[in-house]
Amino acid sequence: MSKHELFEKVYMMLDKITPLKIDCGKLCNRACCNSADEDAGMYLYPGEESMYIDKPDWLRVQQSAFTYGNGKTVLVAICKGECDRKLRPLSCRIFPLIPYIGHEGILKTKIDPRAVPVCPLTRPYNTERMNKEFIHAVNDVFEMLIKDEEIYSFICSLSKLIDEHENLLYLFNAGHNKLHVNKNKKSRRGAVRRRHDHIFR
Ligand code: SF4
Ligand code: SF4
Repeated sequence: MSKHELFEKVYMMLDKITPLKIDCGKLCNRACCNSADEDAGMYLYPGEESMYIDKPDWLRVQQSAFTYGNGKTVLVAICKGECDRKLRPLSCRIFPLIPYIGHEGILKTKIDPRAVPVCPLTRPYNTERMNKEFIHAVNDVFEMLIKDEEIYSFICSLSKLIDEHENLLYLFNAGHNKLHVNKNKKSRRGAVRRRHDHIFR
């Protein structure tokens, strides 16, 4: 199967399925699509650029500073806040989830720590409400994708980036709560423990 056929299949598997059974965009006014930074974008998985050879006018694809494997450049897709839904990138389809491969080499699905400042679904009480079919579909997609060596290698590098973001988030929470320690010691203890590393499998 070519990369193009692989991503066509993946896009189909995640075409109709969404994080909640209702339109979650109504909770946050589509916060994940409305970045103030015009250069903010989504990483493309290796070979996913084959879905955009026709260069749709709502999306530009460019090189990022992030690399994987033996120094291979990761491409980033930058949209104008609107898109052809049938062609939205994989990163958008799975948001706020992310595939993760740790030291033990096992694939997991996690909440993306980069989504925490933006997405209400990353709050623990909402995470529990997430559509199980969506979580299963994301798991199935990545079980299939990691059979591709390049994609496996990319997810390993992405996982290291996720570790860094989780650590930052943890430090931020710890620092933020230190500021409030005199006001409310009890709430500090609870929040410092919360690491936003919900794992779905
Ligand atoms: S930010 Fe989260 S809740 Fe809002 S539209 Fe995106 S995925 Fe849905
Ligand atoms: S490509 Fe579509 S789904 Fe993804 S951020 Fe842009 S508007 Fe949102």
